[in-house]
Amino acid sequence: FGAMDDRLDEDTASDVDEYDFDESGWSSPCSEARGEQTYHVLDAEELRRKQREAVERVCNVLSVGEDVAHALLKHCNWDGNVVNDRWFEDHESTRIAVGLVEFEEVETHSNTCGICFDRLDEKELCGVACGHKYCHACWNGYFHAAIERGPHCLTVRCPEPGCSAHVPKSFVENKVHGEHLRRYKSFWNRSLVEECPTLKWCPGPNCQCAVQCTATSTETLDIICDCGHAFCWGCLEEAHRPVLCKTVRRWLAKNSAESENLVWILANSKPCPKCKRPIEKNQGCMHMTCSAPCRHEFCWLCLEPWRKHGEQTGGPYQCNRYIKAKEQGLYEEEEVTRRKAKCSLERYMHYFERWDAHDKARNRAKKDLVELNSKLDSLSSRFASTANQLKFFTDAYLQIIECRRILKWTYAYGYFHFMDSADPTQQEFLEFLQGEAEMSLEKLHHVAETNVEHLLENPSEFNNYRSKLTGLTCVAKDYFDKLVIELEHGFHHLSSRYSESPGTSLGQSSSPSGASTGPSVIAKNSRKLEQLISMGFDLREAQAALEEGNGDMGEATTILLASLTVGDA
Ligand SMILES: [Zn+2]
Ligand SMILES: [Zn+2]
Ligand SMILES: [Zn+2]
Ligand SMILES: [Zn+2]
Ligand SMILES: [Zn+2]
Ligand SMILES: [Zn+2]
Ligand SMILES: [Zn+2]
Repeated sequence: FGAMDDRLDEDTASDVDEYDFDESGWSSPCSEARGEQTYHVLDAEELRRKQREAVERVCNVLSVGEDVAHALLKHCNWDGNVVNDRWFEDHESTRIAVGLVEFEEVETHSNTCGICFDRLDEKELCGVACGHKYCHACWNGYFHAAIERGPHCLTVRCPEPGCSAHVPKSFVENKVHGEHLRRYKSFWNRSLVEECPTLKWCPGPNCQCAVQCTATSTETLDIICDCGHAFCWGCLEEAHRPVLCKTVRRWLAKNSAESENLVWILANSKPCPKCKRPIEKNQGCMHMTCSAPCRHEFCWLCLEPWRKHGEQTGGPYQCNRYIKAKEQGLYEEEEVTRRKAKCSLERYMHYFERWDAHDKARNRAKKDLVELNSKLDSLSSRFASTANQLKFFTDAYLQIIECRRILKWTYAYGYFHFMDSADPTQQEFLEFLQGEAEMSLEKLHHVAETNVEHLLENPSEFNNYRSKLTGLTCVAKDYFDKLVIELEHGFHHLSSRYSESPGTSLGQSSSPSGASTGPSVIAKNSRKLEQLISMGFDLREAQAALEEGNGDMGEATTILLASLTVGDA
């Protein structure tokens, strides 16, 4: 299929041009820079080098040995500048604090070990600068006990009661062996990261990297380590932008408190709402299709028919919306309490179930990405394309994983934020944005889950698939960027913009007739137009594409991308 190869090359070339042309508003669907890049990842090798350099610098500037340099740096949280300042401005008290004493010969008991009181040859006894002498076995036992107690062994002092003489690092290393020596050395290696306030270990499984960041140690900031683990600088939990650490802590505590009640939720199957047969969720997206002959399509989360979730029906997207049960004053006090408890549990379950479902879908997508990566080789030989030309596959999955993560945390946010003083307008804004973002994600995830084998058997569908997936990735990224920004800014931006146009009811179309009429649909469409234009499309063409796609962003983008390809060929 030489003809197809040519076309593929051409439209790839045009895409590359578009992506590089930043001024037009194009950006790669999965840009490397998520959030602010104010941090640096250091691997084990870099950490050792950094530590060595700090020690060497102190040795040179202060004219001291490595042992003293280690002790001073540890005392000053590995900040070389602080070491300098203290050493030159407050010399005596710094020496005392670290235990650097002048050598003095201790006359009495000079032939007796101060711990076991054995009388020994002078050469079998040794000590540090203070002159207190002990036998090798006693030093060894003393250090072993200190090392077993933990990293405090790095500041171990002379065992003589009342003596605070510093014991040099090299002295300890000469006296201990095997596992104890290994442990002692690793305490020193870890000391840099553990005591320096601008460094933290990556909490990723088996990761040896540390991250250097200038943010205050409690600031909420997403970090992506070289190992791929994304975590929060402030609380070291999994990354949770745009939600605050405080919310995450409360949410995780709530989950563990409620976990007993929720066992049933964690079951992986639900009855089909139509035929009642149990149906198992084994794909990432929430769009479920019951097996033959029922074939009922429904939403895994709310069990409502899937067609209710489409924008094209003009119907409200209510899956993400928790409707507060109206309270009635007709019940006995006990009954009211019981109902309230039931309501609060139901409310929590609404949020938890969505949080949990997106978490599971995210893990599923992570696994799928690994599997996909293993298939890329056969794809690239089948379509004679380079790994870079197939990047759109992995881009789509990375975007899905990121979107699931964001969505998940917006539910923890929603649970707490609207618990007591619910601002109905704000809640409506969040649910509207969530709903839009969720729709774009479900579409993307559904298309991304298309069987790769199917593509291998039907190469003619490849180009179409490629532009569709690329377009959907773009659209999802856009919706989620907006969701994150609005949430981080407390919805002020959006609320002021929408209050300017009275009569606009967000997310709820008053018109049952379709996507092309009704005030909210027009408002929605103008936002979509704005989006398409910001993506670099021509206004007139974007309008036509939106009309042709019945207001569906995914369709419109596909149409526009396809016309780009044709135009170039
Ligand atoms: Zn002894
Ligand atoms: Zn001593
Ligand atoms: Zn890591
Ligand atoms: Zn955090
Ligand atoms: Zn069914
Ligand atoms: Zn639903
Ligand atoms: Zn699907």
